[in-house]
Amino acid sequence: MTDTATLDASFPLLATHGQPRFADVRADDIVPAITAAITDHQAAMAACVARAGDPAMLAFKEEADRRISEAWGVVGHLLAVTNTPELRAAQAQAQPLIAAHFAAVGQDRALYEAIRAIDPAALDPLAARARELALRDFELSGVVLDGDDARDFADNQVEQGRLATEYANAVMDATEAWSLHVTDAGRLAGIPEADLAGMAAAAQAKGHEQGWLITLHAPVVVAVLTYAQDRALRHEVQQAYATRASDQGPNAGEFDNGPRMAALLALRAKAAELLGQGDAASLSLATKMAESPDAVEAFLTDLAARTRPLAQAELADLAEFARSELGIDTLEPWDMGFATERARLARHALDQSEVRRYLPLDRVLPALFGHVERLFGVVFKEVPGSGLWHADVRQFDLFRAGADAPFARLYADFFAREGKRGGAWMNVCRSPSRAADGAQMPVAYLITNFAQAAPGKPALLQHADVVTLFHEMGHCLHHLLGEGDMPSIGGISGVEWDAVELPSQFLENFAYDPAVLKAASAHEETGEPLPDALIERLKAARGFMGALAVLRQIEFALFDIRLHRAAADAPDVQGLLDVVRAEVAVMRYPAWNRFAHAFSHIFAGGYAAGYYSYLWAELLSSDAYEQFAAAPERQAELGAAFRREVLSQGGGRPAMDNYVAFRGGAPDPGALLRVRGLAA
Ligand SMILES: [Zn+2]
Repeated sequence: MTDTATLDASFPLLATHGQPRFADVRADDIVPAITAAITDHQAAMAACVARAGDPAMLAFKEEADRRISEAWGVVGHLLAVTNTPELRAAQAQAQPLIAAHFAAVGQDRALYEAIRAIDPAALDPLAARARELALRDFELSGVVLDGDDARDFADNQVEQGRLATEYANAVMDATEAWSLHVTDAGRLAGIPEADLAGMAAAAQAKGHEQGWLITLHAPVVVAVLTYAQDRALRHEVQQAYATRASDQGPNAGEFDNGPRMAALLALRAKAAELLGQGDAASLSLATKMAESPDAVEAFLTDLAARTRPLAQAELADLAEFARSELGIDTLEPWDMGFATERARLARHALDQSEVRRYLPLDRVLPALFGHVERLFGVVFKEVPGSGLWHADVRQFDLFRAGADAPFARLYADFFAREGKRGGAWMNVCRSPSRAADGAQMPVAYLITNFAQAAPGKPALLQHADVVTLFHEMGHCLHHLLGEGDMPSIGGISGVEWDAVELPSQFLENFAYDPAVLKAASAHEETGEPLPDALIERLKAARGFMGALAVLRQIEFALFDIRLHRAAADAPDVQGLLDVVRAEVAVMRYPAWNRFAHAFSHIFAGGYAAGYYSYLWAELLSSDAYEQFAAAPERQAELGAAFRREVLSQGGGRPAMDNYVAFRGGAPDPGALLRVRGLAA
């Protein structure tokens, strides 16, 4: 492709073939390279418009889109794993350029018409799907609106962005506005030393000569509600936390998000109407796997009916424990975390540091690879990498059994270090594609933040780390086993958002499988595998008080979906929440509780009418896992089917079609609770 030639010279990572050289990217090169990438992409889009209706134009556009998004992806990746002031400055300078460019492309009516003019019958099925999704995304960005509607829609989007930012800021300001200075150590009895040290440091930082500062930052709130023996203190902290940015509590009315929620919901309803989508819930679901708001509600109410009796039993059991062991006559919301932790200690005491001594990374990783090979027929081989971003990074090539040439590559960066963002994630380095000069194999990043090994010792993982590793590997396989060659729907690209967590949660379940755990473990001194008793304890701890946790998720999700179906005018947010709680919850909430006012996921975080996705994907992954668990002798056969119908399809086919093709039908609605160990 001649129109992207400038890029290859200026940005070593964009050579389509061969070894990417991350180490050669200099911060100074980023703005010129991204500017060149934008210029190239603009030229390519103009060329697409000139080729309106040409079926071959679509692959040309896909390749141009792939190149710019992968160039930008490399910048984001480097910023996340090797954050330096220079990189940060370069990224901050390039970011608005990219954002403005993509916004302009999304509003390019001529480009939309050029793609729409392609006869889908002239395309192969994958290209036809890529065309359909591209047109859908254009339409949802309002490109086909005219006149007043176009102006209203554009204003609506700006106003939504402004209100969402205000909402998030109000939550942040309300969080910062409250604190409690405690000087009597007795009030903090039960809170672990590490948490107390943080509270003491916070007090010093605020100019107090002594004592501890309790704030509304999540780790502090969790520490108080889980461990503080002082019930009045728990009550006070819970009340301050659950009334943030509302008309209730210690800062009532000061940061109240109530009017912002009403305005946001009205704007979302209006945008849906302009786009011809009925209501905001339907608009959200237009890009998701669930077919309708009714389907989501049916899923949630069915799951609630299954979960409620189990949660009621858990609550009764916990109340009895609190009465007899803790002297708490009536369990209140601010007792739940505390009583649950005490009951956990009494019944499922599990020494995670002992488990950790059995889980060296050097043992866990080959066990994971072996398991993936058994399930999906994929062989991982570590190969020496060069030009990577850090000496710790490891490179693995993926082979089909018996093949000489790899079909995909994985970069793994396991350990925490300075300048590396916390948490764990998978990201796309390259998507599979059929470039003009040949096919390109998919490449993914697997990033975790495991603790570095002590000097002279092997790196040991917590069991939670093993779960994380399996989870991220599931995402990686979803991308790397993708067989389509249209980048916009290859690997994880174009996969509906409520289906993305299916492969990751599926693989996560095997981190509790006794056979896998045996293979993954070797005690650091004796070399013995994990004893059966410890494995049993890990599994029991997983389901402890789990129905109450599932029910809370159902409550949030049902509230979210109903809220986005409600009429645009003056939605009664609190009234709707009260109705959902009366229907679903087993724990009663105090009248001052204002959960919605700080529910940033749906008001400021992209989860609007999408919070159900967590449970939705978990049901699919649980149902898939049960097929494997029920028939260990058929794992290779089931694995081949899962690979063929789900993993390799990527976004090339609707996720529900993928799943039904694997399973031969819809998922069993009881699977989620059973896999969590919660069945009656
Ligand atoms: Zn995930």
